[in-house]
Amino acid sequence: MTSSAGNGRAGSDEFAMARDRMIRVLRDEFDVSDERVLGVMASVPRHLFVPEALKFQAYRNNALPISGKQTISQPLIVARMTELLDLEKKHKVLEIGTGSGYQTAILAKLGGKIYSIERVLDLAETAKKRLAGLNNVTIKCSDGTNGWDAYSPFDRILVTAGAPVPPEPLVAQLSNGGKIVIPVGDEKERQNLIRITKTPEGVVRETFGACSFVPLIGDHGWEA
Ligand code: SAH
Repeated sequence: MTSSAGNGRAGSDEFAMARDRMIRVLRDEFDVSDERVLGVMASVPRHLFVPEALKFQAYRNNALPISGKQTISQPLIVARMTELLDLEKKHKVLEIGTGSGYQTAILAKLGGKIYSIERVLDLAETAKKRLAGLNNVTIKCSDGTNGWDAYSPFDRILVTAGAPVPPEPLVAQLSNGGKIVIPVGDEKERQNLIRITKTPEGVVRETFGACSFVPLIGDHGWEA
């Protein structure tokens, strides 16, 4: 494959069949129904976002270790969170927890401008290189629990690490009518998937079942 991971011209590589199978499993066994999300996941080469030694596992429905004791999220949870965001091309999106950059690539194909923050320098640098082919992605290394004020307000915010409570700066940097999708839980590695919608009357909070993410560490998250 000659294109970078972010270009997503993945149709003809050696993993094409495995990737198609992953999409069928998501649709038929896990009831992922948003064909836009499935279509984009069918076009992003997930094997380029995992360590070389694990690339043959890239299309199983599992989280996998990346560097810095972090993980690339399970395909099912990527699909669910992306569905819940209900992205449009006009949206400005903030992502907290770039990690491998896989979810970032999915967001970039559905949303407008994507701003993504990762606290582990090595991961942020690797993701920047992987996604260099996408001109609507900006990545920085920082504590994402403080948001990214310079580009706020955001139409959508996605947090891909587990928070004790929704960080207050993120709610503040959300536009009216905007949505945050975030795993929230009292325990460091067990959460419920939450969607917060900002309305003129206040915030609406919906819960979408249990999940397990690495902890969100920072000023408005867990202590390191
Ligand atoms: N979406 C990523 C998930 C990575 S795991 C992927 O699929 O590859 C969650 C990531 O959140 C980790 O890389 C971790 O370092 C990062 N993280 C944790 N706390 C953070 C914070 N306060 N700001 C930014 N990133 C954070």
